[in-house]
Amino acid sequence: METEERTTVLIIGAGPAGLVLGNLLAAAGIDCTVLERQSRSHVEQRARAGFLAANTVRVLTAAGLADGLLAHGRQHDTCAFRTDSGEFELGYGALGNGEVHTVYPQQDLVRDLVAEFLARGGDLRFEAAALGITGLDTDRPAVTVRTADGTVRTLHARYVAGCDGRHGVARTALPAGAVRRYRRDHGVSWLALLAAAPQSMAAVAYGVHRDGFAGHMARTPDVTRYYLQCPRGDDPAAWSDDRIWDALGTRLRADRHGPLHRGAILERRIVDMGSDVLDPIQYGPLFLVGDAAGLISPSAAKGANLAVMEAELLATALAARLHGGDGQPLARYSADCLPRIWRAQEFSHWMINLLHGPAGDGEEADFLRALQHARLESLRTSRRHQDHFAENYVGI
Ligand SMILES: Cc1cc2nc3c(=O)[nH]c(=O)nc-3n(C[C@H](O)[C@H](O)[C@H](O)COP(=O)(O)OP(=O)(O)OC[C@H]3O[C@@H](n4cnc5c(N)ncnc54)[C@H](O)[C@@H]3O)c2cc1C
Repeated sequence: METEERTTVLIIGAGPAGLVLGNLLAAAGIDCTVLERQSRSHVEQRARAGFLAANTVRVLTAAGLADGLLAHGRQHDTCAFRTDSGEFELGYGALGNGEVHTVYPQQDLVRDLVAEFLARGGDLRFEAAALGITGLDTDRPAVTVRTADGTVRTLHARYVAGCDGRHGVARTALPAGAVRRYRRDHGVSWLALLAAAPQSMAAVAYGVHRDGFAGHMARTPDVTRYYLQCPRGDDPAAWSDDRIWDALGTRLRADRHGPLHRGAILERRIVDMGSDVLDPIQYGPLFLVGDAAGLISPSAAKGANLAVMEAELLATALAARLHGGDGQPLARYSADCLPRIWRAQEFSHWMINLLHGPAGDGEEADFLRALQHARLESLRTSRRHQDHFAENYVGI
């Protein structure tokens, strides 16, 4: 049986992008519905990001969405690079714009945003998968939705926000040729790990080693995120806990800088480092937000932060339009977001080159390794370079 419903803004996806947008629209008194194909417990337990930029914290605080992160988040202002030549630390909170990260796991932020949206009377439907979007050349777009009991409904809206990530339906609904896609496969893969162990050092640590990159990032007092560069197509199951800890110890040079706090590996998954950007990120009444608008490699921890920035711009623009005022901010949404998206992409790409050396031996590999060393030396010794790094590392 098929039934029909209506709302003003239909948001597809209850990740950071969709939930921040939904909360901001609810606060502005704009009727909206959020559709999420997964269950509530699934999205509230999905561990991904953790480093929130200063602008993200500002946006969430101003919107009354930061009680949890202000109470439980931990401020982080230092990162360390470990190389053959030793370790150097950058206290980025004292450099650049003087901004710091707040470490707060993405699943905790999602849980807070869900609770707040429901408390604001929001219409949030879990296990409701958008199947497709039609009517994008009209002012009456429609989304077909299948719920857990198999019912298919058609929801009509004035605007649709595609906050459904890279593999969602919003991207596929764009007519061929309407949008240009820029894409890069960085040719690097990471084994992304969550360990049941406290952080091993105060700083974020980047291990640059001939065996490959290793990263250490705080999450909660009991759980730490680690990354290990691994061959493309590697099987996560081939990485036993012991093999993981040995590789982390080698690449983070535990022999010189102290042992790592070991614990059970709770999650291991391969992330192929790729990035893309769509241009424009709007088509008719459809607006793309977060990973749906552009995927960014996690090398500089920008994805969730871009999602919040875009959600705020879109909410402000929709409110201006729907409250009978200026339609210009909505028309400019894509043009306003893209320069910031590209700046984050540029920095993330630069980080990839900083952290990953070439594979193998030979003159060319040696040349690239020497360039990487020169880049790290510049960062270690040049105050101007450090200020530039700090501004881009925390900024969005
Ligand atoms: C290992 C890892 C570490 C990361 N670390 C960081 C970090 O430290 N800092 C940072 O800023 N970023 C980080 N990121 C990136 C960050 O997690 C993402 O950029 C962020 O989740 C994007 O939010 P989003 O709301 O756009 O998309 P998502 O969080 O992917 O949410 C999209 C939602 O849409 C739903 N959906 C999809 N299709 C449909 C459909 N057809 N119908 C209904 N619902 C649908 C999905 O189930 C999902 O809930 C990391 C990513 C990874 C993988």
